[in-house]
Amino acid sequence: MKNIIYIKNIFLVQIAGNQVNPVFCDLKIEDGKIAEIIPKEFNAFVNGEYDSEISKDYYDAKGSVATIPMINFHEHIYSRLAKGLNIKGSTENFHKILKNLWWKLDLMLDEDMIRASALMTVFESIRNGTTYIFDHHSSPNSTKGSLKVIADTLSEFGLRGTICFEVTDRNGLELTKQAVQENYDFIESNGENFKGMFGLHASFTLKDQTLRFVSNLIKDFETGIHIHLCEDKIDREISEKKFDASPLERLFKFNLVNSKSLLAHGIHLKKKEYRKIAEIGAAIALNPDSNMNNSVGLPEFKKFPAKLKLLPGTDGMHSNISKTIKQLFLLYRHYGGSFADTFSFLQRIYFNQIDFVKKYFDDFTTLNLNERADLIIWDYVPVNQLTAENFWGHFVYAVLERQPKTVIQNGKFYLKDFQLQFNVDSFEKEIIKQGMRLKEKFES
Ligand SMILES: [Zn+2]
Repeated sequence: MKNIIYIKNIFLVQIAGNQVNPVFCDLKIEDGKIAEIIPKEFNAFVNGEYDSEISKDYYDAKGSVATIPMINFHEHIYSRLAKGLNIKGSTENFHKILKNLWWKLDLMLDEDMIRASALMTVFESIRNGTTYIFDHHSSPNSTKGSLKVIADTLSEFGLRGTICFEVTDRNGLELTKQAVQENYDFIESNGENFKGMFGLHASFTLKDQTLRFVSNLIKDFETGIHIHLCEDKIDREISEKKFDASPLERLFKFNLVNSKSLLAHGIHLKKKEYRKIAEIGAAIALNPDSNMNNSVGLPEFKKFPAKLKLLPGTDGMHSNISKTIKQLFLLYRHYGGSFADTFSFLQRIYFNQIDFVKKYFDDFTTLNLNERADLIIWDYVPVNQLTAENFWGHFVYAVLERQPKTVIQNGKFYLKDFQLQFNVDSFEKEIIKQGMRLKEKFES
């Protein structure tokens, strides 16, 4: 039997090239695909002319705006249980935050904690309409099979994305080897919903021999690296001191950058380095919340060449990509960008997302006929007719400030009128149990 959903009175924001095309319509979704789009008059809806059509066989969107899913291009699911921990030792600079929190915590994670972290990410992401996630994982004492645990947990709730294991030399050769192998195994087993990338922590914790080894290994894979690049100035300082080359020079030296590479942060880079990244078509994932939280600085937007691909991420801080996009918009204005330039910057990020995600998921939806029915229905009915031109004002000042009301992924409801469509309570208890185990281990 066919799985069919009818949705009435929805303001569907389709994508056509580098333009949005908002259509007020009724929708038929069949077996995960958009099977029918019936345009209607928004004016007639406002005047109540369609009121008599409502029946229980339909999901009534009541005029709400629906968009493509939000995409988190830099996530650390493994960080989810790190709340309320008593951190011993200094956190006065970025290196000390890594040493006394993250590099201590990731060594303590086991499979049960990783699964609980993934579950917590599922709930938070769906509630924020973030249904595509590019995760960067680290659990050096529980490496084998860890990527599969995360991918299977997320897939069960309809989420999609890429996943990788952070290779680093900071824990000795044996754990480096295991991390390389875990990336290799996952990339080889690429599934429909989760694809493998090759994870590298940051070049300042990676020796030349490891980068060379990874380089030889990935040249036959059609994938990119996912790495922290110049998040803090220390990345460049250590790299120049220890290896007599900048982080980016080292990545290029070992042929590790291609058009599918995801470089997180990219703050302390020079203009010519941004140009090099733009020329090869790699993307930078921007994480303003995390950068401000770690006090590592913010990227200088004016240094970005026009062709550089820019994407929004959260760096494990949260799952709310709306917040990241809003922060980027406000920061651009704060640094003196005109409204026209800031709105262009916003649109550039929006369309860069689609270009980049399609490198891993060529079926990523643009909400046109016969495409995947992955859509976020926001708790926002536009206060006037949406058009291709005025959509961005509605997006920044309303959509990004509201919550997703309903989330449909592959033609299935995962959030319906603010309610998750599965039993959250039993999962919540397991998450807390693992959170308490981690706290005890971390503080003992
Ligand atoms: Zn990160």
